Amino acid sequence: MSARAYEAVIGIEIHAQLLTNTKMFCGCALSFGDEPNVHTCPVCLAHPGALPVTNAEAVRLAIIAGHALGCEIPERSTFHRKNYFYPDLPKAYQISQFDEPICGPGRFRYLTEGGEKELGITRAHLEEDAAKLIHVGGDGRRAGAEQSIVDFNRGGTPLLEIVTEPELSDAADAAAFLRQLRLTLVQLGITDGNMEQGSMRADANISIRPAGSTGLGTKTELKNMNSFTFIERGIQAEIARQTAILEAGGTITQETLHYDPVTGEIHSLRSKEEAHDYRYFPEPDLVSVAPDRAWVEELRASLPESPVDRRRRWVADSGLSFEDAEVLAETRELGDYFERVAAVAPAKSAANWVRGELRAQLRERGQEPWESNVTPAALGEIIAMAEAREVSMPNAKAVLAELIANGGDPRAIVEAKGLGAISDEGELEALVDRLIADNPAQVQQLRDGKDKVIGFFVGQAMKATQGRADPGRVGELLRERVRE
Ligand SMILES: [Zn+2]
Repeated sequence: MSARAYEAVIGIEIHAQLLTNTKMFCGCALSFGDEPNVHTCPVCLAHPGALPVTNAEAVRLAIIAGHALGCEIPERSTFHRKNYFYPDLPKAYQISQFDEPICGPGRFRYLTEGGEKELGITRAHLEEDAAKLIHVGGDGRRAGAEQSIVDFNRGGTPLLEIVTEPELSDAADAAAFLRQLRLTLVQLGITDGNMEQGSMRADANISIRPAGSTGLGTKTELKNMNSFTFIERGIQAEIARQTAILEAGGTITQETLHYDPVTGEIHSLRSKEEAHDYRYFPEPDLVSVAPDRAWVEELRASLPESPVDRRRRWVADSGLSFEDAEVLAETRELGDYFERVAAVAPAKSAANWVRGELRAQLRERGQEPWESNVTPAALGEIIAMAEAREVSMPNAKAVLAELIANGGDPRAIVEAKGLGAISDEGELEALVDRLIADNPAQVQQLRDGKDKVIGFFVGQAMKATQGRADPGRVGELLRERVRE
């Protein structure tokens, strides 16, 4: 593929299920995995005369999401009927929003290894999900199925559809944007963001054009991708497919596509000829949403620091690497834990210990740092002792293990177990002299410039002192002695 000749133009649409207790327009409970058709009522089954009522909590969550996306929140928002006929849609229309969405244009900033980027958000609107179709027999797809059955539990679930501007040109950026968007929405309690269960799904609109030109090529739509890795690979595969077609002198057909993550192939789901005319018209059974402006502002003011802002601050002010910051911002709890450790220990060391040794030791227990016996202050104390060389690194790890098992005060553990580093220089010198006397062959290797053998001596020193020797100092003394 000639990467220079064409550039991609990518826009993303995200559907996120909102974390409300009940459906978008009725009081039915939201649930995942219950028996089919137990959470239904005349409204979500479309019985004649049943009237919808807008879920206030869904509106609140949508406005919070809008603020987090940097969107305007218009004074007035209305619902429309999007008409189409399908067995998963009992009313034969979906209540959605059209020209007056709950969230207007905005810009969302996200971080990539190459620096900070920004993506335009066109809009975000509220709508209801369709019911779930289950195809029985065959391979579980519609084609070849013996019968299809409908579970209406999901019908009417509140969704927030977020649409971006077609400003992306890179699949990796698209995935980075989506990861941080998901994290932001999850940490705000807007959605659980579970992509395998489909509570967050993404579609990508993709076209290519000659590099440097401003026109837009014919676009295709990659549907329902449920992992960030697949999204990235799917977009890459589609860019490659379109490039090959244009280079061979062909033309791109506007169509809806499916990316198969197993084979890496792209299949057509439907072409433009089958595209729907949804005949949108205003929903006559619902009043407009006109949120109180003071309340809208209150929601904006109460937004916590976003994961993106947090990461930016850690990298800029605390000197963390891009990757450290990415890992530590994964959950609000982990980020809070790290910040408390970093309040009493150098940030970079705090990041290393929290990401590395602490999580590694807790993994066997299936515990997270904030659920463990290790308070941030105690971990900070261990780090401080290790950096001051009051305990050797292996013994610092042993203190951590003891804290995880039984809790307690790190200094008291060091005292009680005699784990403190040897501070008497004379004692260390005597130890090194003894090791030199006992191991003439290894001493010769060291004289011959085989520095690797220092590891042997350090190992012997740690063994002889139950880990209390300072490995760095042992190495230094050894070099001094042998060189003399
Ligand atoms: Zn219902």
